[in-house]
Amino acid sequence: MKKEKNTETNTYVVDREYRLQYIGKNLKKRFPDLKIGDVCYEKFRRKENPCRNCPLAHKNRKMDMFYNEDEQKWMKINAGEIEWPGATGCHVILTREVTEKNLDELCRFVNMKKEVVERKNSCKGERNKLTGLFSREPFFRQTEAFLSVNDIQPGEYCVAAIDIEHFKLFNEWYGQEAGDRLLGEIGAHLQKMRQEVGGIAGYMGGDDFTIVLPNSEEILESLKRRITGFVRAYGGHTGFLPAFGFYVIDDLDVSISLMYDRAILAQETVKGNYAIRSVYYSADMKTRLENNHVLLTQVQEGLERNEFIYYLQPKVNLNTGKIVGLESLVRWNHPDKGIVAPGYFIPVMESNGLVTELDKKVWEQVCQTLQGWIKAGHRVIPISVNVSSVDIYAIDVVEHFKHLVKKYGLPPEYVELEITESAYVEEYKVITGVAEELRNAGFTVLMDDFGSGYSSLNMLKDVNVDVLKIDMKFLKMDENTMGKGMGILEAVTRMANIMGLRMIAEGVETEDQINYLLNMGCIYGQGYFFYKPLPVEEIKRILLDENNVDYRGIQARKIEHVRFKDLFQSELASDSILNNILGPIAIYDVYQDNVELLQVNDKYCLLIGQDPVDLAENVQVLQDIYPDDRHKMQNIFQRAFQRLAEGAEGTVRRRRKNDQYMWINIKAFFLREQDGHQMFYGAVRDVTEEMNQFRKLMAYQGK
Ligand code: C2E
Ligand code: CA
Ligand code: CA
Repeated sequence: MKKEKNTETNTYVVDREYRLQYIGKNLKKRFPDLKIGDVCYEKFRRKENPCRNCPLAHKNRKMDMFYNEDEQKWMKINAGEIEWPGATGCHVILTREVTEKNLDELCRFVNMKKEVVERKNSCKGERNKLTGLFSREPFFRQTEAFLSVNDIQPGEYCVAAIDIEHFKLFNEWYGQEAGDRLLGEIGAHLQKMRQEVGGIAGYMGGDDFTIVLPNSEEILESLKRRITGFVRAYGGHTGFLPAFGFYVIDDLDVSISLMYDRAILAQETVKGNYAIRSVYYSADMKTRLENNHVLLTQVQEGLERNEFIYYLQPKVNLNTGKIVGLESLVRWNHPDKGIVAPGYFIPVMESNGLVTELDKKVWEQVCQTLQGWIKAGHRVIPISVNVSSVDIYAIDVVEHFKHLVKKYGLPPEYVELEITESAYVEEYKVITGVAEELRNAGFTVLMDDFGSGYSSLNMLKDVNVDVLKIDMKFLKMDENTMGKGMGILEAVTRMANIMGLRMIAEGVETEDQINYLLNMGCIYGQGYFFYKPLPVEEIKRILLDENNVDYRGIQARKIEHVRFKDLFQSELASDSILNNILGPIAIYDVYQDNVELLQVNDKYCLLIGQDPVDLAENVQVLQDIYPDDRHKMQNIFQRAFQRLAEGAEGTVRRRRKNDQYMWINIKAFFLREQDGHQMFYGAVRDVTEEMNQFRKLMAYQGK
C-alpha cells in the first residue's frame, strides 16, 4: 500500500465541544467527507472520547505528539486559543509529521520515552505482503507501544487469535493461489475492523492471525461474524471454519507474546469442536498446561525406567473370526496406577514431541517380537504399529523402518504402519510422500481413523495407502444417528471397493455390526466382539493354534488381470460391449484456452443428458463447466500431459440439461499433439451421488 506523503501542515479549528469550525485545505484533501460540526476525535481517530493529552483539555499544554496508526507515523500537534465567529472556546490546531530533527526535543517536551517512539518507528514497513498486516515481531512491538501510548486500562482490550481450521486442505482443494487470496482477504477484513474500532492486527504466519481490539462483546461478536461469514462463503460452505481464542488483557505487565500464547491456548480448546468456535482464556487452562507439564515429567521418567509396553489386538476376517493381523497398542505399566491406556499420555507427548521417543521404543519391541517368533519357527502374521504425524516430522520414518527390518532380519511385509487420517489432512504432501516411500520399500501403509475427519474422494485417489481403516465412530451410532452413519459407511465402502482398496473396520462390538459390514462388502474388522488388546504372551498362546489364524491376511477383491489390447482386438468384444465396459468416454482437443470435444460415445451422451446432435453443435466444453471449475478442468489436461503413463484426474461440475449441475470425474490421458492442438482421451464418470454423500459426511461432522 502506498502511503500519501504528508509533510505539510494540517490546520483546523475546534470549539469547546470538539466540533470542527474550520477545516484547512490540506486536511480537506485527506478527509474529503469532513464537515463543519463533526467531532474531531470521532473523525480523526475513531474514538469515543477526546484524545488523552488533547491540548483543549490541558490549559498549559499547547503542544503534544500522537501516533497516527493508519499512516504509522508520529505527528506533532500545536494548539492555540482563537476567537471564532459564532462559536466559543475555540482553538486552532496545527498538526505536522515529526521529523528526526525535532524528535529529541519533542520527546523531552511532552515527557514521552524516546524508546517508545523509536520502537514504533522501527516497525514501519514490516508488514506481511500477503495480508498487509504486521508480521509477528512487529506486531508484538506495535501492540506494546499501542498499549502504553494509549494508556490502556486492564480489561479494556482483548487479544484474539484466529486460525482457519484445515486450511492446508483448503490449499489442496482449491490451490495455493486461492488459499493466498483467502489469507489476503482475511487480512483486509482485520485491517478494516482495526480501523473502525481501533487496535492492531497481525499475521503470525501459516493460517494464524491475531488482532487486538477493544474488549466489547459487540465488537468481538462482529469480528467472529465477519471472519466466519467470509470464510464460509469463500470456502463454498464446505466446512472450513475459523477458530477464535480470546485473551482479555487484564494484566498489563504480561508480555504481548505471552498474551498471544494465552489466546492461542484458548483457541486450541476450540479446534475439532464444531459447535463452539470461540473461547476466552481462563486461568484453569494454564493449570491444565501445568498439569500436562507434571505428566510429561512423569512420562519421561517412565520412559527411562522402561515402563512402557505394548498390547496386541487381533484383526479378523468377519466371516470366520480368524486372525489376519495384529495391531500394537502401547500401554504404560505404571508402578502405582497399573496399566494405563494411551489416551492419557499420548496427546501430551505429541504436543511436545516426546511421542517419537516412545514410538521408537514400541516399534523396536514389535520388531523384536516378530524376530522371536520367526526364530522359534512359527508362521508369522503382520503386526501394525501406530505412527504419529509428529514422528514423520521428527525423524526420517522411512529410513528408520528400513533400518529396523534390517537389524531384525524381517521381511518388510510383516511390519505395517498405521498413519491417522488427520495427518494426511494437515500435511498432505509430506505424508503422501512418506507413505509412497514406505510402500516402495515394501511396507504396508494403513490410513487409520478413516472418515473421522475431512477425507475427501479427491484426496483418497491421490493418497496411495494399502488399507483403509474405518473409524469406529461409524459403528458407534445410537438409534437416531444410525441411519446417517451407516449411509456414510456405505458410501465409503463402495468407494474403496471401486478403487480396489483394502479395508478394515475398527470398533466392532456386536453381531449386528458384523452383519451390516458384511452386507456392505467390508469383510475385515477389529474390536471387542472378537478380541480386546491383550498382552503379548496371551496373543502368543492364541496364535499357537493355527486354526485361529488366516495367514492370507487382509485381501482386496480379487480381479483377473485382463490385457487391454487383447480386449480391443478380440472378436469377443463388440462395439456395444466395449461401450459398456469403457463407460462414458470422450476424445478432447485442447488448444490455447479451449477444450473441444472431438469424439464421444453413446454412454457419454447418456451421462451428460444431451443427444449427439445437440452435442455436435456444442463442442466447446468449458462453457458448460461451472465457472469456478474451468481452471481445474484445464489443469487436468495439463497434468495428464506431464504424466503420460498415469494420466490425471479431477472432479468438476458440469451443466446437465435444465441447467442443473452434475459432478463429473474425468480421468484423462494424453494421446498426441499436432499444430498446437493436444489430443486427450478422457474417461468420464458421474460422481454427483458420491459428492452428495461426501457433503453429507461433512455436514454430519460439522454438527
Ligand atoms: P487407534 O489406533 O484408533 O486404536 C484403536 C483404539 O480403540 C485402541 O485404544 C483400542 O484398544 C480401542 N478399541 C479396540 N477395539 C475396540 C472396541 O471394540 N470398542 C472400543 N470402544 N474400543 C476399541 P487404545 O489402545 O486406548 O489406543 C488409543 C489410541 O492411542 C490409538 O487409537 C492410537 O491413536 C493411540 N496409540 C496407541 N498406541 C500407540 C503407539 O504406540 N504410538 C502412538 N503414536 N499412538 C498410539
Ligand atoms: Ca491404530
Ligand atoms: Ca483408529
